Amino acid sequence: MTPILPGSAIGVLGSGQLGRMFAIAARRMGYRVHTFSADSDTPTGQVSDVEICASWEDLDAVRAFARNVRAVTFEFENVPAATAAAAAEFAPVRPAGLVLHTTQHRIREKTFLASAGLPVADYWVIRQFDDLAAALDHLGCPAILKTADFGYDGKGQFRINRPDQSAEAWKALGGRDSVLEAFVPFAKEVSVVAARGLDGAFAHFGLIENTHRRHILDTSVCPARVSPQVERQGEELARVVLEKLEVVGVLCVEFFLTHDGELIINELAPRPHNSGHLTFDACLTSQFEQQLRAVCGLPLGSPKLLSPAAMANLLGDLWSGGQPDWLAASRFSNVKLHLYGKLDPRPGRKMGHLTALAPTVEQALESVESARESLVSALRRTHVS
Ligand code: AMP
Repeated sequence: MTPILPGSAIGVLGSGQLGRMFAIAARRMGYRVHTFSADSDTPTGQVSDVEICASWEDLDAVRAFARNVRAVTFEFENVPAATAAAAAEFAPVRPAGLVLHTTQHRIREKTFLASAGLPVADYWVIRQFDDLAAALDHLGCPAILKTADFGYDGKGQFRINRPDQSAEAWKALGGRDSVLEAFVPFAKEVSVVAARGLDGAFAHFGLIENTHRRHILDTSVCPARVSPQVERQGEELARVVLEKLEVVGVLCVEFFLTHDGELIINELAPRPHNSGHLTFDACLTSQFEQQLRAVCGLPLGSPKLLSPAAMANLLGDLWSGGQPDWLAASRFSNVKLHLYGKLDPRPGRKMGHLTALAPTVEQALESVESARESLVSALRRTHVS
């Protein structure tokens, strides 16, 4: 298949920060970027050549969008199947609609992983309230009820600590198709961001170690502080996932690492991932350039890590006392600031991130955390003290 070369237009379904960083990588290599979402003046639209504002259900608009680009990719997995199919009438959609279909639904994703013999936490499919009591009997407490669709950053989840909370949990999640998952008392959370080319080539960024706050990713460091065996096992599991799903593009595998050194797959994201943002500054080829290369049928780039690195997310909460103190953070000479151009800094909303490179991951982590602390405006510090 002929590769899609610089100068061509690439379409992105979705318009958040992942699309924005993809567009930056693509435009740096001379591609044009068209983005499609229901909003305007979006993080992706602000740095794209063309911003189409229409609903996912407007399939004529989707077809018109796809007609004007050489390939279509996406930056979040909840694109409806019919939208991906309409786009695919006019341009290749990469990763293919089947990858979206599997990973945008927890029951399908778990079924795929379990039937491929990949390690997942014990789970039960819950379709009605009565299933929940039986599942809790089997799995015990605590357990986590997760809706099958539209869950991210802990949304659509309820931790059940006692069996008498089952009615509350079922109600809280709206009585929808769900999965009840055994609670995994993990030692660490790690992820592998990997890419697979049109020719089947595979490349990964190694294990990334993540911490979460309020279910939202807080910090990531690379390389992860794990044994060489765990490192190899994680990379191999990621390779199997991308091969079995026949991914052309980037996919992130999120894992729990147990106290016994066992890796359990938590979930998959068929696109660049927040934990891979540090690759933008720390790797020879970023996860976004890798997505572009895969989608265009170019050879994958080297994912080599140039230096230990750390990333810290900047959530809307940082704005609660006014504009963060950008000047203070800019004094950290090894720290890179990324802001996504979002206009409304709501609490919990991902507004940007910081990346630091340093001789060790500990030093890199200390740099991003200190730089983030320095952002808390002088005004708010006075207020709090
Ligand atoms: P998820 O949206 O499924 O990635 O869940 C968000 C976060 O909730 C994870 O990163 C974990 O910190 C926590 N979590 C989710 N599922 C489990 C589980 N089965 N056992 C322990 N912690 C979990």
